[in-house]
Amino acid sequence: MHYTRQKEGDERMTDYRLSYQRFLKTRAWSETKAKVLAKRRRKWNKKGLYIDNEHFKCEKCKRILPLYIANYHHKRYKNRWTGSLGWSNPSNVIIICKMCHEHIHRKKIKRMKVRF
Ligand SMILES: [Zn+2]
Ligand SMILES: [Zn+2]
Repeated sequence: MHYTRQKEGDERMTDYRLSYQRFLKTRAWSETKAKVLAKRRRKWNKKGLYIDNEHFKCEKCKRILPLYIANYHHKRYKNRWTGSLGWSNPSNVIIICKMCHEHIHRKKIKRMKVRF
């Protein structure tokens, strides 16, 4: 997701955006995503849900969809890189479809002045 500056001089939002964009390119983030997906696959298996490697189950709309529209969404953005609910913590991440993700962030625009 991308952050836009609502008004010039909002330096905090700029720093935050840059640092989040940087984070998304890190190995830590790739590993987190892999962990989250592996964990979900174990959960689906346990439930006897057969989902092949090309698909996933959206945690919002519960539909089984192609993996290429899977998005990883942070439940909490403000926690930065590390910490118990930081960006790289798998428990801070949910896998949802592109449509649900857009929906979540569209709602947030009004509240947080954030654009998806
Ligand atoms: Zn969905
Ligand atoms: Zn998101």
